[in-house]
Parts: sequence; structure tokens; C-alpha cells
Amino acid sequence: MKSDILIIGGGAAGLMAAYGAAKALPEGSKATVTVLEKMPRPGRKILFTGKGRCNITNLKNWNEFSKHIRTNPNLVKPSFYNLTPENMVEFLESCGLETIVERGDRVFPYSHRASDVLDTIVDAVMRQGVKLLTEREVELVKEVPGGGFEVFCSGGEVFECERLIIATGGLSYPVTGSTGDGYKWAEFLGHRIVPCFPSLTALVPRGYKILEGAEPVMKGHISRETAMTAAGESLKGAKLKNINLTVTYDGSVKETEFGDLDFTDGGIEGPVGFQVSRKCVKTLMNGGRVAFSLDLKPGVPLEELTQRVKGLWNEIKNDPRTCEAKGGRGINGKEMYRILLGKLMPWDLIPGFQAWNPDILKASLRRNDYSSRGASGRMTYDVDLIMLAKTLKDWRFDIAGFVGYERCVITAGGVSTDEVVAKTMESKVRKGLYFCGEIIDMDCDTGGYNLHCAFATGLLAGQSAAKSLSLAYEG
Ligand SMILES: Cc1cc2nc3c(=O)[nH]c(=O)nc-3n(C[C@H](O)[C@H](O)[C@H](O)COP(=O)(O)OP(=O)(O)OC[C@H]3O[C@@H](n4cnc5c(N)ncnc54)[C@H](O)[C@@H]3O)c2cc1C
Repeated sequence: MKSDILIIGGGAAGLMAAYGAAKALPEGSKATVTVLEKMPRPGRKILFTGKGRCNITNLKNWNEFSKHIRTNPNLVKPSFYNLTPENMVEFLESCGLETIVERGDRVFPYSHRASDVLDTIVDAVMRQGVKLLTEREVELVKEVPGGGFEVFCSGGEVFECERLIIATGGLSYPVTGSTGDGYKWAEFLGHRIVPCFPSLTALVPRGYKILEGAEPVMKGHISRETAMTAAGESLKGAKLKNINLTVTYDGSVKETEFGDLDFTDGGIEGPVGFQVSRKCVKTLMNGGRVAFSLDLKPGVPLEELTQRVKGLWNEIKNDPRTCEAKGGRGINGKEMYRILLGKLMPWDLIPGFQAWNPDILKASLRRNDYSSRGASGRMTYDVDLIMLAKTLKDWRFDIAGFVGYERCVITAGGVSTDEVVAKTMESKVRKGLYFCGEIIDMDCDTGGYNLHCAFATGLLAGQSAAKSLSLAYEG
């Protein structure tokens, strides 16, 4: 089968490449554009983005946007100016999708449904006359001597094309079809692959998961499926707002991030967790040590917090309800401690905080002197208020590992940017071959940056392939 322009992978990048290619062909052109997608439907990963809401793009200008591209921002620059975030929003709105801007310049569909974004893009691609072939798993790619490429599918079909765009994504979330297939073809065709590793992923505190017997697929990897400890379960689901996370790498280098953090079934996630995850994963993979310190009260100095904790404790102790509870017997120190914690942190964090910091509450058996048998007694509880204040400012976790490709948001590493022309996305090694999206060695922070880079590099790759093809046909 022949197609003038062939795109492997119908994800964010591949779909925009198809749209860009078909739209850039001269009017009346007979050239064909085909997408081969291995899954039953294109763009499966888009459905998972932004927790099903799809953070489409981010409206920051290049100076700010580029700070969130962790590797090789220069590769993205021409693509960004060819499709700015505003252009992307205009494109979607012109196709009938309303959008909304949220905190941090992040753009979402107004409906908050990722499926609406996918449907809008797929409709736009189809309207351009692109052939979108699903359940076509590409197995091998070969260059044809004299020009063009041959693409072999697992079902036995062979496609020939003049221009080939590889948009197979990375290794993250393999259930969406992204299993890193494109790397081996890129390598086979002479490209260097910068070693890949999972980024924007959960970090697992020591003691959070049951690690005995777990077989890591890479150093530091702890599968999301690994069973949780009781202590891990006690923290799961807690969401911390406006905290400071300080990371210590190998006992010295420190980095502090302010924001929100979530404890999930994977480990520590959320914006602040993701922000530091790239460097943490790299350190752990190289056999280094990573430690976290959470400051739950970043706006209050330790001394002031200690006084506040002591003041609250006295208030609770002297509250008539405390003394009169239980028919005048009063409530014990353990119950008073829970009331105190309720004044200092969200309720859903209390079980976890207590489980991970058992030394703050000291229990002892007080002999009942009036007992004639001498064996009976009463539990009494002392709360170490100074230790409590210290822990609120410096709650430490040793990080045992990270969740891998099975659930990370993005793959770092990939096709070396040294071998891709930023202005066209064409390979410097093979004429007529283009790359776009996550397969390339570029990864960004959360906030709509990754999808935008996939859309923008995809569009430019498609347009460039169509232009170079038209020139060749004219020639
Ligand atoms: C859970 C999650 C949430 C995310 N949320 C956001 C967000 O809100 N905002 C944001 O900016 N980014 C987000 N991202 C990142 C974003 O989804 C990716 O950056 C983007 O999807 C990359 O697009 P891509 O087209 O390069 O790759 P992919 O989306 O991975 O697409 C690659 C396509 O190629 C196909 N393919 C692979 N191999 C073959 C083969 N052999 N033959 C044929 N087809 C093949 C795959 O099936 C797939 O459809 C999120 C990622 C995840 C995992």
C-alpha cells in the first residue's frame, strides 16, 4: 500500500502531524496522508490527561514556557512560534471546542472532558481527508534505497511512503499503546537514543510499601502494584496544601519547592512531588540517596509554632468540655492529642501523621495504688509538644524508590535532539524522516507543557513533510 506521507502513531503529536501535513498540501494535490495507530482508537493517552480533564496547553509566553521544558527547549522553539498556546486554543475553538483558563495559565476544555478534546482533534484530522487506520501495529521500518521508506505491520501489511513521521510517544502508561516501539526503529535508522527514564512520577517513602521479594525492573523502581504497608495505607488519600518540600540528594544538595502534595497508592505525588521527581529518579537510578522533609507550616517559624502548639494544648486542657466529658472523669491525653492535631492539620492526615510519628505520644501504665491486688492500672499519655512542633516543620521521609513507566506521566530521554532539525523536525541522519512528540529527548513539567510540545512539534513535522514533498513533486 502506498501513502505519500505516513505517520506512525495516532497520539497528540501524530494527529497534529496528520492535520498539519494534509492542510499544508497544495490545493488539488493528490498526495495522501495516512496515520497507522496500533490501538483500536487513536489518542488513547489524551483521555487520561489531566485526570480525565486534559490540560491542553499553557498560555505562558516563550520566556516563561521554556523554563518548564526540562531538556532541549531550543528544539521546541520554532515549533512553539509556529503553534503558540494561543494558536492552539484558537484552533480548538474554531473547531467548536470551548476552553477555560485555570490557575497557572493552564488551559482545559470548558466541559472538563478530555474526550471532547480528542474528538475535536480527530474530527479536524478526518475533515482534511487523512486516512486514519487503527489496529495497525508497526513492527519494522526500512529505508528504501533511492528514497522513501517501507513500513511493516504485524498483520503482514506493508506500506510505502515518501515521507515518514514517527510519533510513537515514549514508554509511559503502556496501556495507552505507548510502549517505546519507535526507539528501536530510530536507532536502526542511525539515531542516538538518549537513555530513557520515568519522570513526573510517584516517589515511594521507605515503609510505605512492602518491599520484600519485589523484583525491580530498574534500580530504584517500585511497581505501583506493590502492596502497601499499614503505615502507607494510613497516609494514602491525604492531600497537603501549601507546604514546603525540601529534598536532600546524597545527604547534601538541597532543593525546596512550595505547593501542594498528595499521598496516593503509588507514593508521594501532586504538583510539588512531580516537580522534584525527575532529579529524584535520576539520583535513585544512579544508586544515590534521596530524603524528603515536609514543612506543614512554612509561614510560621519553629519558635512561634512551638508556642502556638503549647497554647492550643492548654486551651484544650482547660476547656470545660474536656474536664466534664465522660461523666466528669475528663478525656485522656490520647484523645486530647487528636483534638490538638485536628487544629493543626486536615483530619484525613491525622491517622498517617500519628502512624509515622509514634514517639510524639508516649503511653505509660500508671499503677493504681488503690488496687488491693496491685496488678491493675491505668494508661496515661504524655504528648511531647516540642517534638510535635519540630515534626510539623520537619517531617522526614527516606525515599526508597519510584513508580516506573507503568504509571509515570512522561518519559525523559529519547531520540537525540542533536540529530533533529528544530525548524522542520526532520532527521539530520535520514532525509524524509521526521520525529515529533514524546519520542524525542524532551520532557516538561506538569501544566499543559508536555501536550503543547507534542501538538506543536507534530504540527511542524507534518507541515514540513508536506512542503518538502510538494517541492520534490514540483521539481
Ligand atoms: C496519566 C497522564 C496524564 C497526563 N496529563 C497531561 C496533561 O494534562 N497535560 C499535558 O500537557 N500532558 C499530560 N500528559 C503527557 C502527555 O499525555 C504526553 O506528553 C503526550 O500524550 C505525548 O504525545 P505523543 O503523541 O508524543 O505520544 P502518545 O500520546 O504516547 O502517542 C503515541 C501513539 O503511538 C501509538 N503507537 C505506539 N507504537 C506503535 C506502533 N508500533 N504502531 C502503531 N502505533 C503505535 C500509540 O498507540 C499511541 O497512540 C499526561 C500523561 C499521562 C500518562
